[in-house]
Amino acid sequence: MIHEQLEKRGIKSQRVLNAFRKVERHLFVPEEYRSMAYADRALPIGKSQTISQPYIVAFMTESLDLKSTDRVLEVGTGSGYQAAILAEMCDTVYSIEVIESLGKKAGRLLRKIGYLNITLKIGDGYQGWKTHAPYDAIIVTCAPTQIPAPLKDQLAEGGRMIIPVGEQYVQELILLKKKNGRLREKKVLPVMFVPMVDEVGKIY
Ligand code: SAH
Repeated sequence: MIHEQLEKRGIKSQRVLNAFRKVERHLFVPEEYRSMAYADRALPIGKSQTISQPYIVAFMTESLDLKSTDRVLEVGTGSGYQAAILAEMCDTVYSIEVIESLGKKAGRLLRKIGYLNITLKIGDGYQGWKTHAPYDAIIVTCAPTQIPAPLKDQLAEGGRMIIPVGEQYVQELILLKKKNGRLREKKVLPVMFVPMVDEVGKIY
């Protein structure tokens, strides 16, 4: 997975590659898909949600240029895999999941395998998580049609955000950087994520 899917496609950060070496992806994949855990694709994790393709996880992580002292917000915990990759590379990860059963399952697994620097919450990540803001980096793994204003506000000076934005099945990953209080945006890759929804399942 690491050589064929990540290095050959241009993932260069040794910190990202080392995190991928360390986190055992098969632990985050349901029993029935374990044999495909390291395949070049997204996989179902229940409740119509997916664990993203390894390359997309690596690409998004690399684009955040994380330092070991960074505090990171993730919206869309899902299986907890992306949170574990982030936790290997930064100081603290705060992650929000809107579907309670998925969030709880991810929490049990992350505790069991020993991540003490990940804090989870069940709720609507559109609003961000004000208590721990501002964040050095924000990663969103579900797609709204517009960038949520609370997430822009909760990004620290010098902070980076990576987020898929668009209609269902037609989205662009956007990388934002906050400099002198202003946000600069760049489209970086076409992608396909599940939509961002609110607590009653309405699409944002
Ligand atoms: N990062 C995950 C991928 C999860 S897929 C992983 O590594 O496995 C996207 C997740 O976003 C789904 O679990 C979905 O339920 C969640 N989601 C959708 N809308 C959300 C919202 N408003 N707040 C938080 N999570 C949301």
